[in-house]
Amino acid sequence: MCHDARSPAFNPMVGHDARDGAQCGLPSHDTGCGDFYPIRISPAPSFRFVDKIGKLFLRESVVAPGTVEWSIKRLCFEHDTEPYAQDRDKRIKEIREKRGIELHSLVSHTLFNPAETILKNGGKPPLTYQAFCRTLRKPPKPVGDAPAAIPEPSKDLMDVDVVPIPSLQDLGYADLNEEFTPFGGGETEGLRRLDKMLADKKWVAEFEKPKGNPTAFIKPATTCLSPYLKFGCVSVRLFYARLLTVYSEMKKHSHPPVSLEGQLLWREFFYTVGYGTINYDRMVGNPICRQIPWKDDEVLLSRWRDGQTGFPWIDAAMIQLRKWGWMHHLARHAVACFLTRGDLFVYWEKGRDVFDRLLVDSDWAINNGNWMWLSASAFFAQYHRIYSPITFAKKHDPEGNYIKHFIPVLKDMPKAYIYEPWTAPLSVQKAANCIIGKDYPKPVVDHAIANKKCRDRMGAAFALNKAAGSGQPTQEQVNALNEKLTAKLDEDSDASIAAESSDGEPPPSPKPKPKSKRQRTLTEYKKK
Ligand code: FAD
Repeated sequence: MCHDARSPAFNPMVGHDARDGAQCGLPSHDTGCGDFYPIRISPAPSFRFVDKIGKLFLRESVVAPGTVEWSIKRLCFEHDTEPYAQDRDKRIKEIREKRGIELHSLVSHTLFNPAETILKNGGKPPLTYQAFCRTLRKPPKPVGDAPAAIPEPSKDLMDVDVVPIPSLQDLGYADLNEEFTPFGGGETEGLRRLDKMLADKKWVAEFEKPKGNPTAFIKPATTCLSPYLKFGCVSVRLFYARLLTVYSEMKKHSHPPVSLEGQLLWREFFYTVGYGTINYDRMVGNPICRQIPWKDDEVLLSRWRDGQTGFPWIDAAMIQLRKWGWMHHLARHAVACFLTRGDLFVYWEKGRDVFDRLLVDSDWAINNGNWMWLSASAFFAQYHRIYSPITFAKKHDPEGNYIKHFIPVLKDMPKAYIYEPWTAPLSVQKAANCIIGKDYPKPVVDHAIANKKCRDRMGAAFALNKAAGSGQPTQEQVNALNEKLTAKLDEDSDASIAAESSDGEPPPSPKPKPKSKRQRTLTEYKKK
């Protein structure tokens, strides 16, 4: 995703620099290809594409010499809340102090300044949405229209090459025949989507998130603006201001937390908590996270990640994630619950990593916050309330069209069995050209039994955390609980995985798929 316009509505930094023709602006919020011009420094090794497609990482090691070589007088960048960015910006500030450079770092990626919200809340981030909303005042308006022109980059860029944005081919997506993300990048596309969505005023006014259909994929039930918000292609302030205009034109509208406004405030909530919480992205050492003896089970994790759990609704959602880089919020709920407290009891951080790698809207503050929520590690405590991998989606899509689209091998499975194909008689499986255990996996767990085990484990973990009072249980205590629970629960030999299924057959190991060219090239690209 790259910005393809220089609207200060999405980035006040641009307007800031453009006003008086300042010589140098640096990529802000380092999530795009640079707000002024996509640059790749060659041969300087310290400024390069790393790790994630579409992310340009700006190292302070570039800025430090650059401030001298390029005679930088003023540095402008967007305030960023992620820990690595805070470290980087701290070091940039140190350089600036040494060299007497003017520095502008404004908050614009969020509606509110997380630091101010934390201050208003007595120095701690509010840990409930309601408490968060109580701290809020009117958010600042978008900066305004884009300047008619911004200064051309200097012709004399020393050893810097100005290069075009890399093509899909450059990024290893050469022969792409498979279904791919429908979300084209850039501000033009983001604004087009925003306009289209806001034009349906009735839909906007009536929007209630929990009523949306997570299986709708031809016309998804939500805005699908998350990738554009994440990468700054659509300004959250512009979105918010225009949303309030639509509300003002309607007789009535829905309200937070379920309304569209409410969704943007969830984003603010997680940004604020992420900014103010040490070790927010892990369990150990994170003061808001319950210490739970999760399992480190790579087999279960890979079955989940690869859409091979044998539960079609869960697998279809994970395949949508792989193909589109996106899935509906409630689908995210379902798969996250399944991986953690619902069925597999695998570490939430492992699921977070998979999301982080595959989501086109992958966002550190939101992703970690929601994984903690769904695993009942923080914010949410009703761990016994789970999403059934069988019945939850059925009420939205009784025909199983979503499943049939993302798992074509199930396309001829009758609707009576589409959510539980292992219950179909063999004759039905044969007629549908899909033998369970051969063409599509058997369920990785017996849901009823696995869920009972998970609830027992969660109950014990909650008791341990409660006993620690205002502190947290030590890792030794968590490990001891893990050993105790494993010994006790594994006595129930009928308990979990398909290895123990009634026909005594070994569990179907998911066939290792040959790597597609795309995967190969991506891996190779990552190694570079
Ligand atoms: P809409 O419903 O149209 O909402 C509009 C915007 O509000 C979204 O684009 C997003 O910026 C914000 N928003 C909506 N729901 C939430 C929420 N629960 N928390 C915070 N902000 C929200 N969202 C991400 O943007 N990046 C992530 O990495 C991410 N990881 C998630 C992981 C899990 C386990 C779960 C359960 C949710 C996650 N979400 C994440 C939140 C949410 O699912 C997505 O923001 C939403 O589905 C994106 O689709 P949309 O733009 O159509 O949302």
